[in-house]
Amino acid sequence: MSKEQLAIHGGKSVRDSYLPYGRQWIDDKDIQAVVNVLKSDYLTTGPIITRFEKEIADYVGAKYAVAFSNGTAALHGACFAAGIKKNDEVITTPMTFAASVNCILYQGGKPVFADVDPKTYNISPNNIKQLITKKTKAIIPVDFTGQPATLDEIISIANKHKLIVIEDAAHSLGAFYKGKKIGSISDMTMFSFHPVKHITTGEGGIITTNNKDYFEKLMQFRTHGITRNNDKLFQYHGPWYYEMQFLGFNYRMTDIQAALGISQLKKLIQFIEYRKRIIEKYNMGFKDLEQITIPYQKKDHESSWHLYIIRLNLDQLTVGRKEVFEALIKENIGVNVHYIPVHLQPYYQRLGYKKGICPNAEKLYEEIITLPLFPAMSEKDVEDVINGVKKVIEFYRY
Ligand SMILES: *Cc1c(COP(=O)(O)O)cnc(C)c1O
Repeated sequence: MSKEQLAIHGGKSVRDSYLPYGRQWIDDKDIQAVVNVLKSDYLTTGPIITRFEKEIADYVGAKYAVAFSNGTAALHGACFAAGIKKNDEVITTPMTFAASVNCILYQGGKPVFADVDPKTYNISPNNIKQLITKKTKAIIPVDFTGQPATLDEIISIANKHKLIVIEDAAHSLGAFYKGKKIGSISDMTMFSFHPVKHITTGEGGIITTNNKDYFEKLMQFRTHGITRNNDKLFQYHGPWYYEMQFLGFNYRMTDIQAALGISQLKKLIQFIEYRKRIIEKYNMGFKDLEQITIPYQKKDHESSWHLYIIRLNLDQLTVGRKEVFEALIKENIGVNVHYIPVHLQPYYQRLGYKKGICPNAEKLYEEIITLPLFPAMSEKDVEDVINGVKKVIEFYRY
């Protein structure tokens, strides 16, 4: 291919218009559900929240669910309910969004980074074992890209050392681990309803759990630490009476959001089906490209496919990830990088985390590109991505 043919050098792009890497799917039923709440008596903390919570709990097979204003707030609530406090250590992965780690700091805890498995990019149980100390209180695995972490091993390590497992399942609503749905396995599981995730409430998050004590703490935490529950009150002044028993936050979800969530949940299985079809096409399209590694699917870890990440085999390319990334943008393919390892962020560097502590994650970061993946992608969109990647790789291969 001549240089002139490449968009990066002024030639014609594979696509005329920009294809984003993720996008929500909102239909008329979703809109009607939201309008119905706007016309009702309660905009927040009404009956729709409770219904949404019950539907999510039933869907994942958990006893309880507590909705939050966003996934980060939900993780904060989970760290509170787990009793994480000053100087407690919590082991997590650097291959995640900052929220999975920030929630530990909100409680005064100390994040400890375990490296990732070089094939699945999920947290390595062996590395977790090496990092456990007397101060370790919890583990926060992330089901990276939608593929469940090695939960059996993580939970058995946790049981042995009396640790709490808070699963960050922001990517994995609808995924299965050894035949069990994600959301019913760990002590607490967090889902996010940000618009790029499987279903959306605009902003929103939820914790699912089978533990009544965690459930009650989460409910109280999201509303200032306040309770009206007669069984819990220290005093009783009259029917107006409530008690603030600890310092909580206003982390409530609105009924407007919950109504959207209920409507979206009806489409989840279809959404995942569409995602899987796109994945199959990507896998087929890239199978002969030696310059990239496609996602590795571990047996019994059934992904719900939030992200499709390709890894560049840099020794077979004449340039680095940055140039390939920029060339794909010029082709109008909305690529992304998930993630910059959290411990490399300036804030975490200032806290003293050094480059080099998670070599697998750091190497991975230099080589990954996230391709567009969302249910509303057309066949042509998918083909454009495949053609764009092939074109750029062909141009930059040795
Ligand atoms: C999206 C996401 C979150 C946070 O969710 P918000 O709802 O945006 O606060 C946490 N962890 C991971 C891995 C995520 O992708």
